[in-house]
Amino acid sequence: MFAKVVFPLPFRNSFTYAIPGELEDLVQVGVRVVVPFGKRIMTGFVIDVSEETDVETKIKKVQDVLDEQPIFNKESLKFYEWIAEYYLSSLGEALRNSVPYGTDVETKRKIVSDTDYCKELLEKESKKTSVKGKILQVLSERESVSISFLQKLIKKKNIYSSLRSLESQGALTVLDKIDDAKVRIKKVKYVKLAKDIDEIYELIPSVEARSPKQVVILLELLSNKNEPFQLSELLKKTQTHQSSINSLVEKGAVVVFDKEVERIYKEEYNEDLKEFTTTEQQQKVVTVVKEKIEAEQFDSFLLHGVTGSGKTHVYIELTKSALDKGKTVLILVPEISLTPQITSRFFNTFGETVAVIHSRLTLGERYDTWRGIVKGKFKVVIGPRSALFAPLKNIGLIVVDEEHDSSYKQNDLVPRYHGRDAAIVRAHNFNCPVLLGSATPSIESKFNAVTGKYKFLELTERIDKAKMPRITLVDITQEKKKKRMKNIFSDTLLEKINDRIQKKQGVIILQNRRGFATQVFCDDCGEIISCPDCSVGMVHHLSKNILQCHYCGRTTPVPKACTTCGSISLRFWGTGTQRVEDELAYHFPDIRMERVDSDTMNKRGQLSFILNSFRKGEIDLLVGTQMVSKGLDFSHVTLVGVISAETSLWMPDFRADERTFQLLTQVAGRSGRSEVEGEVIIQTQSAQNFVLQRVVRNDYAGFYAREIFNRQRSGYPPFTKMALIEFKNDEESSVQGAARDFFKILQKYKNKLNIVPPAEAVIYKIKGYYRYHLLVRTHREKDPNGRILRNSVLETFIEFNKSSRYRDVKVIIDIDPQDVL
Ligand code: ADP
Ligand code: ZN
Ligand code: ZN
Repeated sequence: MFAKVVFPLPFRNSFTYAIPGELEDLVQVGVRVVVPFGKRIMTGFVIDVSEETDVETKIKKVQDVLDEQPIFNKESLKFYEWIAEYYLSSLGEALRNSVPYGTDVETKRKIVSDTDYCKELLEKESKKTSVKGKILQVLSERESVSISFLQKLIKKKNIYSSLRSLESQGALTVLDKIDDAKVRIKKVKYVKLAKDIDEIYELIPSVEARSPKQVVILLELLSNKNEPFQLSELLKKTQTHQSSINSLVEKGAVVVFDKEVERIYKEEYNEDLKEFTTTEQQQKVVTVVKEKIEAEQFDSFLLHGVTGSGKTHVYIELTKSALDKGKTVLILVPEISLTPQITSRFFNTFGETVAVIHSRLTLGERYDTWRGIVKGKFKVVIGPRSALFAPLKNIGLIVVDEEHDSSYKQNDLVPRYHGRDAAIVRAHNFNCPVLLGSATPSIESKFNAVTGKYKFLELTERIDKAKMPRITLVDITQEKKKKRMKNIFSDTLLEKINDRIQKKQGVIILQNRRGFATQVFCDDCGEIISCPDCSVGMVHHLSKNILQCHYCGRTTPVPKACTTCGSISLRFWGTGTQRVEDELAYHFPDIRMERVDSDTMNKRGQLSFILNSFRKGEIDLLVGTQMVSKGLDFSHVTLVGVISAETSLWMPDFRADERTFQLLTQVAGRSGRSEVEGEVIIQTQSAQNFVLQRVVRNDYAGFYAREIFNRQRSGYPPFTKMALIEFKNDEESSVQGAARDFFKILQKYKNKLNIVPPAEAVIYKIKGYYRYHLLVRTHREKDPNGRILRNSVLETFIEFNKSSRYRDVKVIIDIDPQDVL
């Protein structure tokens, strides 16, 4: 038997291995195997098993199998193939997503030496400082050492040829030592009685005289009705030691055994389960989608439901009907640690069958959750984009909540997939409906609904006839002239905050920048103090009085003088959340306030804790970045304030208007979710701006109409298919050379493509790496599924790797990029 194996590495072919007889039963499609690969031992994925092979070269053998049960099957393999094909990664790179992190076997090669013989050879060695001499020195004292450690010890990398010659002399053996996976099933030792109760009582007198401690243990176990006791707890409770247990085991009185424990995440935010009848609008949506669940048919729906229209309830009702049919359900949400409310509502309704996956899980929790899904314990999985790969069987419904959210796009790792778009393919594979929900649908999704690719559904009203909040723009340029500004706050906003605090209503303040001052510049030469590794300004953090780069994390003390001209007239400019918090504390000394941004929310459960207190009214005001803009549903919030609309409006990105509209509409939607009408104050220097005007009127349709017109005119998605190619290296000239070479090869396809010549990325330098961008587009009419675009880019990439002098420059291909900075 032969297995085809792929590796999580950037090459696109598979490799064939022979399956030794004793492993034949274990090797199947979807398991991971340990195989020799070049000089290394690697973990790969089996994608095919067959009895014959046409491979003629010498075939190596599979060494071990890692999984008892396959982690993917032929069906889900199709999904991974699609990801690889569409996002131009290798299949192995796509399959890497199918495993919870930390379970890969890594190999370390280990040397076992004959120390005496090494000593002998060392004495004979003429050059004791040669590589060989140094190795012998180490090995005459150590019986075993890993290669990497040996390299460190003798401060040399090139030791292989010496090792080989020593090995042939019989002084050492190089072994492949396979390190255990980083995460394993967690087992804990338990103790229970090994005899009947009567027999134990009979035993006690004979033990008592010499070993009273053992009796204490026996009595504790008896009082526990012989339920197994966790060993460590038993020892603690009885104040005894392992040796007593060992004696009892010898006497045959107790047994010690391993029990598997599950590490499963529990949501710490909780609110009471609310029972209510589905509204007519909600019911309409449920009926339409339910039909497809019943029929086990693929279909894609876009649900445009205004903020507070009860979308979560729709998801829950639909989940119920899928579960009733014996199916499982996948709920995708933007970065989950931001949305404790939706998870808590699912826990309330579906209890233990719900699994939550998110970035803050420990490796153990992630691993156990994954296994629980494989075993069928969990029927509903909630999580961010990575949950897409949860090994659910028989999916009957997929929901993508807040489908417009940019966190659905994977931006750091290959493949750079889009969770929403991939969810549609996954639903297609499972023959089930997919529901995309949002109060501010992305331009692409709305366009798909308009052109009929998605079916369009709507919730136009808030629950309980709550009114949409009243939104007002405050023109800070005007206010300044009228002397109605106190630093970053307008008097209007301050008065409203004061009013709500008196009335014990909740307030949310948004400033989408963390830190204190967002820029430090020199009044004399005008230079901004920037990160030396990244071409962006350093941000002032007052609490630690440091400057920090938000791209690489580098921190420096605040300089006393300009680093360019030496002048001491440094100015702090721009506003971050810390400064907002600081000024609020000045205006309202008694306010109970919490700041919510990635600086303060670095502890797990912190957000859930704060939201719990906010709901109970123990906190008056939340100030934060976009973390406070999404999903929060607190009926007592009646005021939302935005310190500056400009933070996202001025981004040099073709989606800046869309993101601004979404951010402001979403944060506004946190206000007035019950009888009391809500209010929103947005401070801005661009009060006449079209986008802001649409936000004020809650006019999604008007915004969409103009935005789609602009996109068509300037040739952006959804009218074009786009690929962004990034070149990255610490040598500026290499990056330029690589971009030039790539551009030259790409010219072959220029009749089919619209190519923007390579240029410095907007953020030219990140973490010391220079970046060039090259943008390629095709028109949707000529290239509806983007195949022409992908093929041309891929062919170019392959040729570039063969012919360019700069092929060591990192080239990152981003299909459907969400972020072009
Ligand atoms: P959004 O559409 O903004 O996601 P939510 O799902 O958070 O809105 O719902 C808003 C509020 O309305 C929640 O507190 C929810 O419990 C409540 N709700 C939803 N459906 C109903 C209903 N049919 N009757 C009464 N309250 C409901
Ligand atoms: Zn200066
Ligand atoms: Zn930096």
